[in-house]
Amino acid sequence: MNISTISLALGLSFSFLTPAAIAQDRSEHEQFAREIYEKVISIRTARGQEKVPEMVEYLADQFKSAGFTDEDIQITDYDSDGEHTQGLIVYYRADGTSKHKPVVILGHMDVVDALAADWERPPFTLTEEDGYFFGRGTMDNKYGITNIASTFIRLKKEGWKPNRDFVIVLSGDEETGMVSTRAQADYVAENIDPEFVLNTDAGGGVLSDDGAPLFYAVQGAEKTYATFELTVANPGGHSSRPRSDNAIYDLADALRKIKEYKFPVRYSDLTLASFKASGAVTPGALGKAMRDFSENPKNKKAIAILRDDPETVGTTGTTCVATMLRAGHAENALPQSATATVNCRIFPGVGIAEVEEKLKKVVDNEAVQFELMTDVTESPESKLRPEVMAAIEASLSARGLNTPIIPYMESGGTDGMHYRIKGYDTVAISGAWMKPSDIFAHGLNERLAVDAFYGGLDHWYVIMKELAGDE
Ligand SMILES: [Zn+2]
Repeated sequence: MNISTISLALGLSFSFLTPAAIAQDRSEHEQFAREIYEKVISIRTARGQEKVPEMVEYLADQFKSAGFTDEDIQITDYDSDGEHTQGLIVYYRADGTSKHKPVVILGHMDVVDALAADWERPPFTLTEEDGYFFGRGTMDNKYGITNIASTFIRLKKEGWKPNRDFVIVLSGDEETGMVSTRAQADYVAENIDPEFVLNTDAGGGVLSDDGAPLFYAVQGAEKTYATFELTVANPGGHSSRPRSDNAIYDLADALRKIKEYKFPVRYSDLTLASFKASGAVTPGALGKAMRDFSENPKNKKAIAILRDDPETVGTTGTTCVATMLRAGHAENALPQSATATVNCRIFPGVGIAEVEEKLKKVVDNEAVQFELMTDVTESPESKLRPEVMAAIEASLSARGLNTPIIPYMESGGTDGMHYRIKGYDTVAISGAWMKPSDIFAHGLNERLAVDAFYGGLDHWYVIMKELAGDE
């Protein structure tokens, strides 16, 4: 039975029940997970609120009442660009018989802020409506936190002893400074030295618009995020006496050249495997281009189609695009300065210096000054380990699913990159199944389907048992 059949069955059987009756039909574990979810979403862990410690305290209490000891739980304070935040690390210790190295599982407790005035429902209250849970963090990343925390607690209560340590590492400022992330990655490398790292904050199942499972996505690489400011300065003057050089025109010329420029095609084993698998389930010309590219990444027609689609343009190389502009100071004065923001997503393995040099060459005007605005983290691609892939397969088959598992490279950034640069294979494998049209992370009215919430609660349970069961 696939998810759409399951949800159809649930929809039919529940349509005559009141919400209270539905709650009674949920298992004890499902109700407990929902309770955690509701609580963590009610804590506004956005920048400026200093609420991460409140969430840490709540979670630590939950772990303690399930039998985790003070030695298993580690709370650390961080100063994230002037704001107090915390990290939480929880050890699920092995029975001491294994030679296997530990597995680290990542999540982040902070969220991008949400303004109540802009939302249709209160962002920091979990609202169940029309088959969805609404609220900031319902997806990014409080579902992941709820899922992994409730799984740790469930296994502990069942008395399960893994044959290797599992360590949950939750950061407190992933969405902003990543100060806690960097410090935790240092701590993990020095004190835990895991076999590999799993992340709750990306990846997961993809459903078609009518709810049929298409494939399960594994995030195995992240592009490097870099923002430049391009500035042209000019003596300016009175607008009644235009001069041949002009800050706005010079900047506009530079931007037009950047628009026309296409970075060279790049690909890796992950790119090819990703296109091969997604091409098999993507209809039409785009699907054909994916398949053709996976067979021959020099196929010009395939490249043109992939680069013409916003969904795939980022997967075949580096992209840079103008995102902001400011210039001039009066309507009757020649501009003394013009500045554009150009945001780049750089393919793993391509250096930031190489990109800057290329852009300067493309612009070909020394009057245009470049300034790198971001703290850049360049991370390599991770190997897809057979034992991790097998564990994902076990989780899918426990739900009666037999979809392809597709690796992908993320254009954004997660905590995972700070572990990849330390040499740890890191893949993000969320337990949620979603339609692309339901993805509102960082945006208004963030949501997760109620079926996806409960349907994924066994995900980490199965994966942990697969990775630390008997030899
Ligand atoms: Zn996230």
